[in-house]
Amino acid sequence: MIIIDNLNDMQKELKQHKQKSIGYVPTMGFLHEGHLSLIKESVKENDLTVLSIFVNPLQFGPNEDFETYPRDPKHDETLAEKYGVDIIFMPTTEVMYPKKLTFSIEVTQKADILCGKSRPGHFDGVVTVLLKLFNIIQPSNAYFGMKDAQQLAIVHAFVEEFNLPVNIKGLATVREPSGLAKSSRNVYLSEDEKDSAVSLIESLTYGAELIKSNKYNVNEILEQVKSKFSEKNNTSFEYLELLSYPDLEKVTKIKSTVILAIAVKYKQARLIDNLIIDKNGNILTEFN
Ligand code: AMP
Repeated sequence: MIIIDNLNDMQKELKQHKQKSIGYVPTMGFLHEGHLSLIKESVKENDLTVLSIFVNPLQFGPNEDFETYPRDPKHDETLAEKYGVDIIFMPTTEVMYPKKLTFSIEVTQKADILCGKSRPGHFDGVVTVLLKLFNIIQPSNAYFGMKDAQQLAIVHAFVEEFNLPVNIKGLATVREPSGLAKSSRNVYLSEDEKDSAVSLIESLTYGAELIKSNKYNVNEILEQVKSKFSEKNNTSFEYLELLSYPDLEKVTKIKSTVILAIAVKYKQARLIDNLIIDKNGNILTEFN
């Protein structure tokens, strides 16, 4: 495994692998099993796997946790090597953004709801850095987690609308044994918060059962999911939504695939989770 922090070396290295299929896993580091599941799939499906670790300032709002975002590059390197990564691309902010950008990319659909509502500009920052990273790495396949389902929907649309030559693969959310979705930000949770955070997935799973039963309308489902969540948790929601997926539009009846998504704010961490559910109430475990 080699670690590269600049564009020249990256270009030189990739020139040697021109004929190979490249699988790419973009991350902000502080790797956990969620990231590792993406790496495993990439290693399985491609000749070469590139992992990027870059905490992208462009996707953080002024009052968000860019400075304090957890970082542990040495541990990340050990894990990446163990799981078969060939190249880690770990650029500095100066390498990625040497000067003020002349252009901006604005996500004009799917970005003013769910996480985009409380994080204006977040997805603009995500697609900007991804465009740069896709151009630098030129992957055949890029792997994303369904945990960030809105991001996945936006990336799918981005690649399709701009004809970017990369396949996007969305993989299932990896969870703690309790059901809590793995997240780099889980380190911010107290033990009590971790216990109560299990109600995110419990209430979403209950919602999926209600969809499967085919007995309730969208409002009734949302009300029941809310009460299920509140049984164990007095944290207030940032959002709880049932939308079409990947279009992310309001629905009154469930006629095609939907996302049931939740965000809650704990003292130091904002947690998100979701289930993507087909019209028969089955929970999807990949979205390509
Ligand atoms: P991040 O480092 O948080 O930007 O995440 C990098 C990638 O890992 C994104 O595509 C995430 O959706 C994915 N990811 C994060 N957490 C999980 C998880 N628990 N299960 C599966 N994928 C995840």
